[in-house]
Amino acid sequence: MGSRRNQRKKRSRRKVQQLFIGTVALVAILAIVYLAYTLSTQGKAAQQKTPASTTATTTASSTVSTIESTAATMSSTSETTTTVESESTSPLLAGKNHNEAAAAYAYSTQEVQNIMAGVTPPMTGDRICFLTFDDGANTTITPQILDVLKANDVPATFFIVGNTLGEEVQPILKRQIAEGHAIAMHSYNHNYDLLYPGRKANATQIAKEADQTQAALQNILGKDFYTGVWRYPGGHMSWENLAAADAALNEKGIHYADWNAMSGDAQPLGDRPTDAAAMAAYQANSITEYPDVHLRVVLMHDAADKNVTVAALPAIIQFYKDHGFKFGVLE
Ligand SMILES: [Zn+2]
Repeated sequence: MGSRRNQRKKRSRRKVQQLFIGTVALVAILAIVYLAYTLSTQGKAAQQKTPASTTATTTASSTVSTIESTAATMSSTSETTTTVESESTSPLLAGKNHNEAAAAYAYSTQEVQNIMAGVTPPMTGDRICFLTFDDGANTTITPQILDVLKANDVPATFFIVGNTLGEEVQPILKRQIAEGHAIAMHSYNHNYDLLYPGRKANATQIAKEADQTQAALQNILGKDFYTGVWRYPGGHMSWENLAAADAALNEKGIHYADWNAMSGDAQPLGDRPTDAAAMAAYQANSITEYPDVHLRVVLMHDAADKNVTVAALPAIIQFYKDHGFKFGVLE
């Protein structure tokens, strides 16, 4: 009797043990299956995400329909609408006048001006060309200049007149930043009588116009935008008593840049080239007057009537490429 009861006890204990082991095994199997499922779905999600985000940043359109996942399509569609205006993924560099990518080829305006003025020794090493455009922005010539720069894959610096900054040019300024160019100031009114009455600089007026233009630019490009680059209408070289105006600008972290080569597109009519070939030749000849072969700041204009400048620009860019120049922007 006693031994039979013991045997029954043993048998039931074994049953409990078997049940326990079975339960543990089942839980373990379920856990493994769940883990495997989770990993496989995550992998699929990652695979779908990669093409979605690359197509959104590179082509920004058309491929949206080929993306299968609804979530991926939604995210790429929303990206498409924001990247149409600014193709580049490089955002504005806070406190600067260009985007992050342009930092690789942005040069100090003060240093460039000092070299041009003979205050510091000429550059050695790389030859650097700064293409500069004054008097914009507008919806006629400025976009055409941007198209030529894009086709030739070179950056430029745009010296903008503050009172041109209406709503219609806002996408153009955003495009300038997105495509790796730099934005600088060229006064608010471009009125010689206000800026230089009697040919003498009015420091108060000049400082005021710098503030107005900076504010107008920030209104379009955001509070993170700040340009420390200025070009005096007519050029610093053309006016008298500029020390106080220079100091007022310097206090705001702003420095001016003149030029040491030019397309001649704003010369008096008798001296102004009238077709692309003549303008390219004029630009090439303007260089021989200056000794520094390593640094070129080329004065051009993107005012609304500068069709010849648009036509001549590919040849002017090619001239610098042929002479071993790299292209920079002024910051
Ligand atoms: Zn001007």
